[in-house]
Amino acid sequence: MQILKPVYDAVISRNPNEPEFHQAVQEVLESLEPVAARHPEWVQAGIFSRIVEPERQVIFRVTWIDDKGQVQVNRGFRVQFNSAIGPYKGGLRLHPSVNLSVIKFLGFEQVFKNSLTGLPIGGGKGGSDFNPRGKSDGEIMRFCQSFMTELWRHIGPDTDVPAGDIGTGAREIGYMFGQYKRLSNTHTGVLTGKGLTWGGSLVRTEATGYGLCYFMEEALKAKGLSFNGSVVSISGSGNVAIFAYDKATELGAKVVTMSDSDGYIHDPDGIDIDLVKEIKLVRRGRIREYLDKHPGATFGDNCFAIWQVPCDIALPCATQNEIDAASAKTLVANGCKAVGEGANMPSTPEAINVFLANKLIYGPAKAANAGGVATSALEMSQNSQRFGWSFDEVDSKLKTIMVSIYQAASQAAAAYGDPDNLMLGANIAGFEKVATAMYQQGVAY
Ligand code: NDP
Repeated sequence: MQILKPVYDAVISRNPNEPEFHQAVQEVLESLEPVAARHPEWVQAGIFSRIVEPERQVIFRVTWIDDKGQVQVNRGFRVQFNSAIGPYKGGLRLHPSVNLSVIKFLGFEQVFKNSLTGLPIGGGKGGSDFNPRGKSDGEIMRFCQSFMTELWRHIGPDTDVPAGDIGTGAREIGYMFGQYKRLSNTHTGVLTGKGLTWGGSLVRTEATGYGLCYFMEEALKAKGLSFNGSVVSISGSGNVAIFAYDKATELGAKVVTMSDSDGYIHDPDGIDIDLVKEIKLVRRGRIREYLDKHPGATFGDNCFAIWQVPCDIALPCATQNEIDAASAKTLVANGCKAVGEGANMPSTPEAINVFLANKLIYGPAKAANAGGVATSALEMSQNSQRFGWSFDEVDSKLKTIMVSIYQAASQAAAAYGDPDNLMLGANIAGFEKVATAMYQQGVAY
């Protein structure tokens, strides 16, 4: 980094103790160095310095009462990162690891991802350090209501439209929407991932996992490969992982692993997804319970070791930094040909270097997992029209969007002299649209 080094240095000194945010910014700024060289007017207009600073950050107290009658205190966040091309849009993460750094890295990534979808949505992210694990329905509801009691004044259908993420699924969106509606006295499309009878879109639940496979199938096709006949390793067993399983299998692959935060299962015969759905979605249990019905499968309690299972295609769909350099080298040594990121920032920078150096097909998160937010934007369109599209209509739009994201990333990579580097291409293509909008909208005094 040369031209953009001062921008990166300022991010480090201005945002100490935010390692995840630094990591995300570094990756993007390194990719954007040739863009800065081609566009001195963007450097002059401070676009690079402005894009790494969120437009607004809200941090708030969330108090709620647990089932024992005790008061609990959590911290809530909403980082409204960039609204140059549309209202802020991005999920709400409920996980004990949530802090400002995590929300800022996710919000920053979201800006470029949302731009890549080609739809008019800006970037934001939010959440809380609340841990949903082991909580009763009543506790989840009271937390969600309290969270929304503050958040509602900062969001709106034309301002900021949150969605789900880790720990925030259909149940939580329902409780949050109910509270928003009560407080605002409006029934609007202020959240996406809503129930199908009250404004939700068909395919939204499946969209991130399906979209990941549509993107990767296109990338594989360009290299004469396919999911068909491939062995696939998936991490996670949540929303993204489960529907990535469904689509990869439909495309002819055999998925042999899944995981949760306690460890991973390996079933060489192919994972029994109905059982995983029953354990994780219905019973909200632990993935190791899989072995009760499939004693031939194995369980390992080291999440990183999932990448030691040989596979043709790896789809990390759990969380950030779940593939380090050692795991990446193991994947390469075992003949893995492609990595598609369902989770956000699942590969460390060192792991990405291993993938690129070994010419793997590497589908970076901001491109490969954009199907969720793209379908959320389709949900917003349907809400505005007060109309709903069929499953096939939404699915076909999703597929078209994922193919066009692949093409945009691939073409930008080629235009900047590194044709197979989809990370470079995704960062540049996502950035250029936002930068153009910011430039045209001028500097606010
Ligand atoms: P879910 O909460 O539905 O599932 C998360 C899964 O990852 C669970 O299996 C969870 O296990 C596991 N997990 C969470 N933290 C860890 C950890 N520290 N180590 C190992 N496993 C872990 O979340 P989603 O499926 O929605 O999200 C998964 C990833 O995909 C995230 O990075 C998210 O940001 C990203 N993403 C999600 C989108 C969406 O539409 N939902 C859109 C784009 C990206 P456990 O059950 O033990 O908690």
